[in-house]
Amino acid sequence: MLSPDTKLSPLAAPVSAVWGVGEDRARLLARLEIFTVEDLLLHRPRRYEDRRKFLPIRELKLKEAATVRGTIIAAGAKRFRAGTRGMFECVFDDGTAHLHCRWWQAQPWMADWFKTGREFLVFGKPNSLKPRRIDHPETELVEPGEDEFVHVNRIVPIHPLTEGLTGRVMRTLIWRALEQFGSEIAEPEPGGAWQTPLPPDRPARANALRMIHFPEDATDVELARQRLALDEFVALQFQIQSRRKKFETVSRGLPCRGDNRLMKPFLTQLGFQLTAAQTGVLKEIRADLGGAHPMRRLLQGDVGSGKTAVAGCSALMALESGFNVALMAPTEILAEQHYRNFTKWFGPMGIQVELQTGTRKTVRPKDTQGAASLFIGTHALFTAAHALPKLGLVIIDEQHKFGVAQREQLVRKGHYPHLLVMTATPIPRTLGLTLYGDLDVSVIDELPGGRGRIKTFVRAADTLPKVWEFIRKKISSGRQAYIVYPRVEATDKDVKAVTKEFEAVRRALAPFPVGLLHGRMKGAEKESVMAAFRADEIKAVVATSLIEVGVDVANASVMLIENAEQFGLAQLHQLRGRIGRGAHESFCILISDAPQEEVQARLKILESTNDGFKIAEADLRLRGPGELLGQEQSGSMRLRFGDLAEDLSLIRQARKWVSLQLESSAGAVT
Ligand code: ADP
Ligand code: MG
Repeated sequence: MLSPDTKLSPLAAPVSAVWGVGEDRARLLARLEIFTVEDLLLHRPRRYEDRRKFLPIRELKLKEAATVRGTIIAAGAKRFRAGTRGMFECVFDDGTAHLHCRWWQAQPWMADWFKTGREFLVFGKPNSLKPRRIDHPETELVEPGEDEFVHVNRIVPIHPLTEGLTGRVMRTLIWRALEQFGSEIAEPEPGGAWQTPLPPDRPARANALRMIHFPEDATDVELARQRLALDEFVALQFQIQSRRKKFETVSRGLPCRGDNRLMKPFLTQLGFQLTAAQTGVLKEIRADLGGAHPMRRLLQGDVGSGKTAVAGCSALMALESGFNVALMAPTEILAEQHYRNFTKWFGPMGIQVELQTGTRKTVRPKDTQGAASLFIGTHALFTAAHALPKLGLVIIDEQHKFGVAQREQLVRKGHYPHLLVMTATPIPRTLGLTLYGDLDVSVIDELPGGRGRIKTFVRAADTLPKVWEFIRKKISSGRQAYIVYPRVEATDKDVKAVTKEFEAVRRALAPFPVGLLHGRMKGAEKESVMAAFRADEIKAVVATSLIEVGVDVANASVMLIENAEQFGLAQLHQLRGRIGRGAHESFCILISDAPQEEVQARLKILESTNDGFKIAEADLRLRGPGELLGQEQSGSMRLRFGDLAEDLSLIRQARKWVSLQLESSAGAVT
């Protein structure tokens, strides 16, 4: 996380520089990815134990975790059957009562370790009080006289461990590392030239490291964590912002702001007034397209907020200026849909619209020579994009499907078209400022009027007969429905798959015609099902989450999602965004028999709100950034102390501070 400069620091020395770390321990530490002294100092405790006083065994409460201190009065393995491992049990006594501890799988070393007469600290949750008993407790041998102030009589860190390395050894090594190297812990220098500001209320880094391992007070831990997190966020912001700065020094923005020549007639024939939010965003985009540097903008707008119209207007600005535009979608269905929309919108105005996907290609080489055109496509187009001459603007729809790496590719090729990235997965602000920190952000925070509400219900599978009846009623009254399953093929008996359920759905909804849609179908097959659904010839489609992005059929007002627990919240919200697009009231029914309380709680969030930002933030809290964004994107920054779900104010502080520093250092150079 720190800059390359820290190589010069004594903290970059191999961990064997710490007294007591020989080859064997170095090998064990390496398993925990601890290679240097600094890695050891940054090895974050997973919890703490207050060992300033111990609970008498007599006062243990059922199912309440506690630490007691007792001496072994009996121990031994019990074998129930010959040849099996058996159980190991020992009895501790602290003068107030006895505590029985059991391990189901006796290990060979246990008999030697848990010897009568030895004193141990024992941590765990009693599962019985008669007798008092804890199964699989954490234990720590008390060695009389040695380091009493490190392991007891204080708040003690419990570190992540690996087999062969006890908590006591780990704690001792970290204690020694702090003694040996404490005075070498400097404030970090992310840019090499300057230091992290130290707000008066934050401990110095050296202190923070002492406090995170050996807090004097329970409150020390969070203070220290914040300080160390701030350093991580500063380093991260430095990376992000200096990349952006560098980009701006090597690139000049193409003049793409347009002259309204095409915009005016376009808006007149659009059939609706842009919302204030759409207009506001277009102002920001126009300023970028006429700016000195290429636009790098992220457009966030909840599903159905009208991002396509914004993309259309942005494209027109560049087209008016004589530049080609590329619009990229994550799926063929979506590319086809855009192609249809834009041909309808732009065709009459004499603008060439071309499609290029894996299966269909309308563009011929000579087309790229003529008047400015709009090229629409999937990844196939993406790789070819740089062959397009006079490319002024690239629009990426539903960006989270593309990933940062692909976006970077675009930036690195040496051409610098303007870039507009559109996403319907609202990105929690913390991630907006970190993962997407090198993009400017616009938000459409208003839905077009005239939309019916979406009501969402979470139900158990035994309500399905009633649900089918409800769907049949809605179809009879003219509406259409999506029926969503998590899988294409049945591989797991508990998770329903489209191919298997298709016939059942057909029977349930007969005589209404039902279509099937999943990712393993050919492009043309998928397109013909979608066309029939759009034309209202098919009344329901049975689909995978393939329909999650962008599909726009206003008459569809019912969605049934089975095995809803298989999807992430953000994904369910996306799916749900396929309905509620017309004036009819819409209904989303989430079916789940998952017994876990947290799963039900997660699904209930969707019942309670339609606000994509709230949902994304809840999802981030519940599942972490990896789940929300994919490992590829979130793996790029492994934070030890920073918390992407909670640390908005720290991230803001880091961001502001780094930008001030970069400005003043740029000022100093020029
Ligand atoms: P998304 O932001 O999810 O991509 P779309 O661009 O697909 O949303 O828009 C959803 C629907 O709303 C489309 O049918 C579109 O024509 C319509 N729409 C967009 N903007 C407006 C507006 N200002 N007023 C009314 N309808 C609009
Ligand atoms: Mg869209």
